[in-house]
Amino acid sequence: HFRCRSAFKLLEIEEKYRLLKPGLSVIDCGAAPGAWSQVAVQRVNSTGERPDLARGCVFGIDLLHIAPLQGAHFLSNRDITSPATHAELQELLPQAYADVILSDMAPNATGLRELDHERLVCMCLSLLELAEKLLRPGGSLLCKFWDGALTHKLREGLTRAFQDVKTVKPKASRKESAELYFLARTFRKT
Ligand code: SAM
Repeated sequence: HFRCRSAFKLLEIEEKYRLLKPGLSVIDCGAAPGAWSQVAVQRVNSTGERPDLARGCVFGIDLLHIAPLQGAHFLSNRDITSPATHAELQELLPQAYADVILSDMAPNATGLRELDHERLVCMCLSLLELAEKLLRPGGSLLCKFWDGALTHKLREGLTRAFQDVKTVKPKASRKESAELYFLARTFRKT
């Protein structure tokens, strides 16, 4: 019942690290078609399916259209790197803060490995600006990247902003792909 196989990567990371808990506010960057948001909706209890547990919220953003999903608030046709999108999220988030930022974003691959890598690293670095504005102190960020020459730059940026940064390679990622995730925990707000 997931919209996309990518759900299994998040489920696997969740199994081990448990970022998403009932009551948390989540921003899902590059959310289309919505499988990660489906996982997040269940975990944070944003539909209130479990009335005994705290009710969280999920905001999904994508350049593309995202079909509606109960428990999620989607901002379709938006660029997450744009300050206008940040402002819109700030208005919508309870207390103007998110607990978790998820990003499975990827640019349209050109097939030129280094170029694709650089573009995705730039997108991930822009998530640090989003975090500066909207992530609560102590919050976490999970972001996909393609490994390459600038990986260390991204890691350094994350390490400045978070206490703990780990590289994660879910088994559900195809073995031959250079796809990895950084899991950055305990945000220190500057
Ligand atoms: N996690 C999603 C799921 O489980 O359904 C799949 C995400 S897909 C691999 C990557 C998405 O990132 C694409 O839909 C793409 O449109 C989106 N994307 C790329 N650049 C973006 C940007 N600047 N702002 C918002 N979304 C972006």
